[in-house]
Amino acid sequence: MDWQSLTVVSSVISFGTLENLFPFFTFKESFDKRVYTNLVLGLINALTNSFTVALLLNWIWQQTLWFGIFHFINSPVLKIVLSFFLLDGYMYGWHRLMHTLPIAWRFHKVHHTELLMNTSTAYRFHPVEAILANLPKLFLIWLFGITLQNLLLYEVLLACELIFHHSNWAIPLKIDRYLSCFIVTPNYHRSHHSQLKKEATSNYASFFTIWDILFKSYNYPQSPKTIKLGLFPVKKELNLINLLKLPF
Ligand SMILES: [Zn+2]
Ligand SMILES: [Zn+2]
Repeated sequence: MDWQSLTVVSSVISFGTLENLFPFFTFKESFDKRVYTNLVLGLINALTNSFTVALLLNWIWQQTLWFGIFHFINSPVLKIVLSFFLLDGYMYGWHRLMHTLPIAWRFHKVHHTELLMNTSTAYRFHPVEAILANLPKLFLIWLFGITLQNLLLYEVLLACELIFHHSNWAIPLKIDRYLSCFIVTPNYHRSHHSQLKKEATSNYASFFTIWDILFKSYNYPQSPKTIKLGLFPVKKELNLINLLKLPF
């Protein structure tokens, strides 16, 4: 197994175990019921992306006409840092757009129909959103000349962070609040999954919370235990077919 897969699998096992040992909200559904739909969606998304985005990426890295803006920077460390912040800033903008543009929200609301957030929610995205999210990113990769290594580093760490902040792990409130000054934490993201519009239209960050602080969408929940997760008026867990049909 390569280091990327090993890191992501380790995160799934670690945070999956922690959310079962120390749950924030009591799980009402069995393990297989709550992860099945999300993991199938994750699998569909991984397959469709490997036939589209991966091929386009390959083409970008093979062309020799333009090496990108980062080509003019000598320091490899600076290139890593800039690539990381550029990709993370893009993720913030994309996520905010998903909540602002009515047509985009139709697809993104699939992610918000989860009634009880857990590690597998990190994979709950409509395939249309999962592919479209990568297209402007491909342009950025070409424009700035982000390398395969730097892209992989961000994507792997982001995957671990998504698994972490979607987990139902009850981290002590003080630690969660402190960490949320830097990175997205479970309580911080729980608020984004709230049924209340005011809470759901804040905390758009994916990795670093600096974007929410800069663009005034930072909102740490006052009483995380009272958050009602999900999307009003969806009361029952939707099956795979209904989730795929939801935007139409
Ligand atoms: Zn969202
Ligand atoms: Zn989420």
